[in-house]
Amino acid sequence: MENSRRNASGRPKASGSDFEAEQENIQELGREVPVGSADYLAPKSLKKALEYRSRYGYKAVVIAGGTDIMVDYFERLSEVSSWLDLTKIQDLKEIKFGPEKIRLGSMVTHRKLATDSRIRENLPLLAESASEVGAWQIQSRGTLGGNIVTSSPAGDALAPLLAYQARFILGSVSGQREVAAEDFFTGPKENVMTQEELLIEVVIPTPREGTLSRWKKVGKRKAMIISSLTMALLLELDDKDEITAARAAYGAVAPRPIRATELEVYLTGRKLTEISAGKAGELAAQEISPITDIRGTVDFRCQVTRDITEQALLGFQQE
Ligand SMILES: Cc1cc2nc3c(=O)[nH]c(=O)nc-3n(C[C@H](O)[C@H](O)[C@H](O)COP(=O)(O)OP(=O)(O)OC[C@H]3O[C@@H](n4cnc5c(N)ncnc54)[C@H](O)[C@@H]3O)c2cc1C
Repeated sequence: MENSRRNASGRPKASGSDFEAEQENIQELGREVPVGSADYLAPKSLKKALEYRSRYGYKAVVIAGGTDIMVDYFERLSEVSSWLDLTKIQDLKEIKFGPEKIRLGSMVTHRKLATDSRIRENLPLLAESASEVGAWQIQSRGTLGGNIVTSSPAGDALAPLLAYQARFILGSVSGQREVAAEDFFTGPKENVMTQEELLIEVVIPTPREGTLSRWKKVGKRKAMIISSLTMALLLELDDKDEITAARAAYGAVAPRPIRATELEVYLTGRKLTEISAGKAGELAAQEISPITDIRGTVDFRCQVTRDITEQALLGFQQE
């Protein structure tokens, strides 16, 4: 049992609450808290978390559900000296529905997204993608924020977030900034966040009633599988069935999640019945820049992108 109270470097572990209390005591006494003396920071407030983030930067690794970071941790043990655990911050677990915007705390789990009736109704792309993340154990621990910050091009939430024109609220002790989902991801597992910042919230404009959407995840099997390809397609129509807005987002087909803008231009302004689903599929396949890896070849990804886009549009036309 003694071992379970020690970290990888053999130093004794303090529990989050013990450590927080200890820090507050030291600060009250007016003494400096040396960075690196701690193993586990588990603040209950966002303010405190941001203070820790400012003080420790990358020296404290942020942990949300742990389903990505623990895999990394066990592969590269020595790089982690301290943890900043967000699980006690209730504010980050909230979902707020407004008439114009839906706000999702970064600590909202995939399970919550998959099962919440208002999310299923208003943001079906996100609910459906969440229901296909790993299996229910991973969904119960894994968070939306973790999926975003990991920034894997294959992250299942990312194409839906692009399709919904989500904006991410990044916080630090000096304030907040808002970044469009499209500008956040800069490469495979890379994004614009700095070591002073935490992802606080995801803000999504409430989709108009009657918006059509299709989510598709392609993988080598049905569960516990990293995507070979994802698609989130969204169409807004007017009362004459004319497409007034189209957003087509794809994951795992480029170094970061992308929108197929040529396809969107082709779709916008046309009646749904006038669309050539085959042409739409071709356009989508031309816009991706996939690689060959263990989850699929370039040819496979191009073919599948073409097929699922075509099928989605044929499906809309038959509804
Ligand atoms: C068996 C298994 C199956 C999986 N299947 C899938 C799948 O099908 N689809 C899929 O997309 N993913 C899958 N994953 C990956 C993972 O579950 C998801 O990416 C999940 O959303 C990560 O969330 P988390 O809360 O566990 O993140 P964590 O592991 O806690 O954190 C991930 C990263 O984000 C950082 N971070 C987390 N929250 C914040 C924040 N608020 N501010 C700043 N930084 C933050 C952490 O420091 C870390 O770098 C799977 C993982 C496993 C182990």
